[in-house]
Amino acid sequence: MPNNYDCIVIGGGPSGSSASAILAEYGHRVLVLERERFPRYHIGESLIPFTFGPLQRIGMIPKMKGSQFVKKYSVTFVQPDGRRSQPFYFFNRYDKETVAQTWQVLRSEFDQLLLDNAREKGAEVREETTVNRLLMEDDRVVGVEATDKSGVTYEVRAPITLDCSGKEAFASNRRGWRLRDPYLNKIAVWTYYKGSKREPDIDEGATTVAYVPDKGWFWHIPQHNDMVSVGVVAEGKYLTRDGVKDPREIFHREVQQNEWIKSHLALGASTGDYFITSEYSRHSRYCSAPGLLLLGDALAFLDPVFSSGVMLALKSGHLGAEAVHEALVAGDLSPARFAPYGATLRQGIENMRKLVYAFYDPNFSFREVIQRYPEAGGQITDCLSGDVNKDFSQLWAWIREFVPLPDDLPYGEPLLETAEKAA
Ligand SMILES: Cc1cc2nc3c(=O)[nH]c(=O)nc-3n(C[C@H](O)[C@H](O)[C@H](O)COP(=O)(O)OP(=O)(O)OC[C@H]3O[C@@H](n4cnc5c(N)ncnc54)[C@H](O)[C@@H]3O)c2cc1C
Repeated sequence: MPNNYDCIVIGGGPSGSSASAILAEYGHRVLVLERERFPRYHIGESLIPFTFGPLQRIGMIPKMKGSQFVKKYSVTFVQPDGRRSQPFYFFNRYDKETVAQTWQVLRSEFDQLLLDNAREKGAEVREETTVNRLLMEDDRVVGVEATDKSGVTYEVRAPITLDCSGKEAFASNRRGWRLRDPYLNKIAVWTYYKGSKREPDIDEGATTVAYVPDKGWFWHIPQHNDMVSVGVVAEGKYLTRDGVKDPREIFHREVQQNEWIKSHLALGASTGDYFITSEYSRHSRYCSAPGLLLLGDALAFLDPVFSSGVMLALKSGHLGAEAVHEALVAGDLSPARFAPYGATLRQGIENMRKLVYAFYDPNFSFREVIQRYPEAGGQITDCLSGDVNKDFSQLWAWIREFVPLPDDLPYGEPLLETAEKAA
């Protein structure tokens, strides 16, 4: 059967739209199949500085600068009694005019900009089209079967398919590669406020991480149009204690647990919509298999804290697309070619994962680490910025004096043809 495209992309979120923009710009025939009709709602609204590189690579920086998205320069941590830490300003480590200034976005608008950008570069995008299954030939993915909004089911073929399906984790779910994180297993409950209190000046767009008991925490993400995204993340048994299950009740009970959140929200009003999600932390055992590459959340998702999701999605889109381009040009799409891609992504995920584990440890405090090792502050800012592919071994050694940190998980290599046959 002939190939209709050079590359099929399942999902038009940040990973899919960034990868397809790059591949289409190289002149490859790219088809994006997206289940929803955009603009569509999505959680994940706080960007971190190292989204800058991939956004620049796909030509999005002028669009971001021309948008209404609120500028973000820092992250701050707030104790339950309302005491606020010094902000971790990204410009203490990176260029203030470029990397160190990032954005708080509305995902419906941001993802629409990204998908339109992919279209402008030449990708064909079909919205309201659901991928049902991967087409297999001799253990190789050769395309997908999809159903469009009118209910018509059809097949399309390409030498490589990119799984950018987000939390659906299309390939890893169906092939038994989806693995839980050994420790991360939180619940998130959130809503939106209008008219609540904001910090002044350069701190107006800061992300605030505000603690509640049991290592739970609020995110407070100021957005444009005077909106704030605000949510609480914690262990399920803490949030649902005394049998409380209703997201609205869970949310408002926790608001009482942090003075800063309480006083900031007191001036505004909730939109009345409350969201809840769980079981989002996961890893795919493999990053690639014959004819298939996994990107973004479909590869792994850690935890909402530190807002690394969109950065990792865009980075995987960038690095994945470059690797696919080289493979297409070489006429060699064997999974082994994607080993460096998998290793780079996993290194970044593992560095972020260590900081996430430390954060949730009851005996960890940023302040104590920085008091003993002042240089740790800069390195923590680097990791919070998403500069995750560097050597943090000194930082981890310092933090291990306070709390244990996890070993790297043995995931993310490609599934080689021979291994697949043996399995
Ligand atoms: C509670 C919570 C808070 C978060 N907060 C942040 C944050 O502040 N900052 C941050 O950076 N990240 C955050 N994240 C993570 C962020 O949402 C994700 O990491 C990011 O959206 C991943 O991008 P993606 O392109 O991989 O997947 P997605 O953005 O999920 O896109 C996947 C797309 O694939 C489509 N799709 C799925 N299945 C199919 C199918 N079968 N056929 C066709 N299309 C399909 C979907 O409709 C979707 O549009 C948060 C996550 C959670 C759970």
